[in-house]
Amino acid sequence: MNFRGWPTTSILCALVFAPACGDDGGTNGSTSGASTTSTPTSTSSVETSAGPVGATTDPTSTTAMTTATSGSTGADSTGAGSATDSTGGDSTGAMAKCQGAFAAAWIDGTNCGTEDAIQIHQYDDDTVILRQSLCTNFEAPFIYLLFGDDQVLMLDTGAGGIPVAATVQQIVDQWLAANGRASIEILVTNSHGHGDHTAGNAQMAAVPGATVVGTSQSAVASYFGIVDWPMQIVTHDLGGRLVDVIPIPGHQTAHVALYDHATGWLLTGDTLYPGRLYISDFPTYVQSINRLVDHTADLEVCHVLGTHIEMTNTPGQDFPFAAPTHPDEHPLELTRDHLVELRDAVEAMGNNPVLQAHDDFIVYPL
Ligand SMILES: [Zn+2]
Repeated sequence: MNFRGWPTTSILCALVFAPACGDDGGTNGSTSGASTTSTPTSTSSVETSAGPVGATTDPTSTTAMTTATSGSTGADSTGAGSATDSTGGDSTGAMAKCQGAFAAAWIDGTNCGTEDAIQIHQYDDDTVILRQSLCTNFEAPFIYLLFGDDQVLMLDTGAGGIPVAATVQQIVDQWLAANGRASIEILVTNSHGHGDHTAGNAQMAAVPGATVVGTSQSAVASYFGIVDWPMQIVTHDLGGRLVDVIPIPGHQTAHVALYDHATGWLLTGDTLYPGRLYISDFPTYVQSINRLVDHTADLEVCHVLGTHIEMTNTPGQDFPFAAPTHPDEHPLELTRDHLVELRDAVEAMGNNPVLQAHDDFIVYPL
């Protein structure tokens, strides 16, 4: 989210994260284009832990076990159009859409003595969701890992104070073993440049085989080959797994959304999630929401996933700002219908943006 008080990306880059921030990633995109998706023979869908927050005992303690089915909010609705993929990104067909499972419960800060610093949830064989504990930072952001044949894309690195690099290395090692592979490039990029999503970039930059994309708009555009920001949408190939990179400034200037053709996920960062949608540049934000609606009109959107949860399970009711615990959180996953609802809401505001609570999110112009 990043409301107030976080250092700007440029300050972080200048003072702390220079090695990571200065890296524009070199090439535009990955290498192979014709390889097939990895075989789905990897690890089981079991929650694992990154160690308890208290760092005292029992590194094998578990939090929520993964047994839930997806779509507790009816999130399996498809997009407005047919399932036809206009970019042909689903041609490999190796991973069925809308088949993964979300965690039965996310760590919510209510048990800091035993709660893990990072909850690791395997959504499917090639897709992992991490949730940072509220006990380590009230922002409690989510992090996503998308494995292709050539690269694993890591979207965001957390709010700091957690062993995110070691955790990701562990996950990558398990995936490599399950797939009979020796190595894979780790592509680290950010939904946007706010500190609660980029604080672990420096840790990741030290990981062998990791490429960390810079956090500035120009660095993001350069790495992914976007020459007409924010109008141009590009498709990045992770190796048999295509991800559309969609510039969506408005919350923050370097914000991007990702559409993952394998899972049908639309990853919307801080632009749309079940919480307070802080909008710093309203006209630009409205254009970005329209861009997302238009781009996904003919795509199958299984889930819309952001990077925080700030809504409770009571419609229209959020947790207080910086709440240390989140009992009875709203589910993480939203639907494309929410995106359309948001589009209609901000369009209707015209030149008079106002704070407006909806059941599942709150429009929050700054
Ligand atoms: Zn933010």
